[in-house]
Amino acid sequence: MTSKMTPLLEHNEQFARTYTPVPLGLPAAQVIVITCLDHRVDPAITLGLKLGDAPVLRNAGGRVTQQVIEEIAYLAFLGQRLSGGQLSDDRRVEVAVIHHTQCGTGFLADPGFRREASEATGADEAALEASAVGDPHATVSADVERLLTSPLLPPGMSVSGHVYNTDTGRVTTVVEARYS
Ligand SMILES: [Zn+2]
Repeated sequence: MTSKMTPLLEHNEQFARTYTPVPLGLPAAQVIVITCLDHRVDPAITLGLKLGDAPVLRNAGGRVTQQVIEEIAYLAFLGQRLSGGQLSDDRRVEVAVIHHTQCGTGFLADPGFRREASEATGADEAALEASAVGDPHATVSADVERLLTSPLLPPGMSVSGHVYNTDTGRVTTVVEARYS
């Protein structure tokens, strides 16, 4: 049976031929991206991220969930250990939350759709409702606030909010980077 992975693995073969390993260390761009798992909004492509530039956390909507906050806290802890202690000011990291227009989670704002989705997936209806991105400007602002007010957000980490427009390919900053 042919696998859908075959052309992708052929691509990887080309990739590996000229590959240069990146050592485990702090992200070169000093940014952590949180964004939607939508295949049209890959930040490696829309923001030009290269290997070693930035950790990217992706889920439906690019929402700041408790799990995402815990992962950010772990990344900060790991970064400190890898750098041998406290990060100096010039090595601090910005967390960029990026939501997008036409998000597939937007349908979850509709109660009927949400109920059917809950029945089909076993996911909790309230959790589905909380993950909906109807107005990305509003949700990204709320998620930046959620991250900034979390007691788990490591000190010295700034947070910014952005919206990616799937019609134009343009990212607009909605919330300027700030510290908690
Ligand atoms: Zn989305």
